[in-house]
Amino acid sequence: MKNISAIAEFQAGRQKLKGTVGFIPTMGCLHEGHLALVKQALAENDYVVVSIFVNPKQFGPQEDLAAYPRTLANDLKLLRSVGCDFVFTPDVSEMYPEGFQTEVRVQEVTKVLEGARRPNHFAGVTTVVCKLFNIVQPARAYFGQKDAQQVAVVKQMVADLAMPLKIVVAPTVRAADGLALSSRNRYLDQQQRAAAPVLYRSLTTAQIAYQKGENSPKALRKILETILAEEPLAEIDYVSVADATTLKELDLSTHQPMLLSMAVRIGKTRLIDNIVLL
Ligand code: AMP
Repeated sequence: MKNISAIAEFQAGRQKLKGTVGFIPTMGCLHEGHLALVKQALAENDYVVVSIFVNPKQFGPQEDLAAYPRTLANDLKLLRSVGCDFVFTPDVSEMYPEGFQTEVRVQEVTKVLEGARRPNHFAGVTTVVCKLFNIVQPARAYFGQKDAQQVAVVKQMVADLAMPLKIVVAPTVRAADGLALSSRNRYLDQQQRAAAPVLYRSLTTAQIAYQKGENSPKALRKILETILAEEPLAEIDYVSVADATTLKELDLSTHQPMLLSMAVRIGKTRLIDNIVLL
């Protein structure tokens, strides 16, 4: 496995590769959720590139940029163990040198849900992902369903700008008790960790009701809120029942797929989760 930090060096190596490249952009602190994306990419491409870059542009001023966990040595060990070919680990000055002044911003689909609470978050994501796609030139890029809106935003960018690659979405990897794996889970103390599965429990409760015939968005939202309210450590930021494609909040029942999603604070840690009802 080769670890490269300079853009020019990566691009020189990239030019020599014959065959398809699968790419997984990450912020490091890797866990089984990331590794599932890497494994899928390994099965579907000739080479796999993982980037590790804690992107300052996608953090708000009050968010956890400085505290975001950085575990590079362990990340490299994990990536080596699954057979990753290249790791790209630029630092901030390599990605955003003095004089950098370009932004890629997707409009409508970033205005709701996470985007409504984190104003410049998705512009940060699309700017860095666009630059990484230009550097890595993947045939396929892999994203987790856990960040459902990120998937929608990146797909919109790729379609609008005719980027020559396919976005592949992989299911959310969960702990045995249902908690979606996330680098931020390590902020939780023991008591908070025990409370955290309430997110998925609320989602699966709504899913069961839906399977039994409940398809009113209002009623499904109520189920999510009721289950979350049963956990005293959980403070709702938002719960949403939206059209899975447009991400617009639903009032009336629909035959289109619905995205049930939420952000919930447990102590200082903000967790997100979602499921799609087909
Ligand atoms: P991050 O390092 O948090 O930016 O995540 C990098 C990629 O891994 C994103 O596409 C995430 O959606 C994906 N990812 C993170 N956690 C999970 C998970 N539990 N299951 C599946 N994909 C995940």
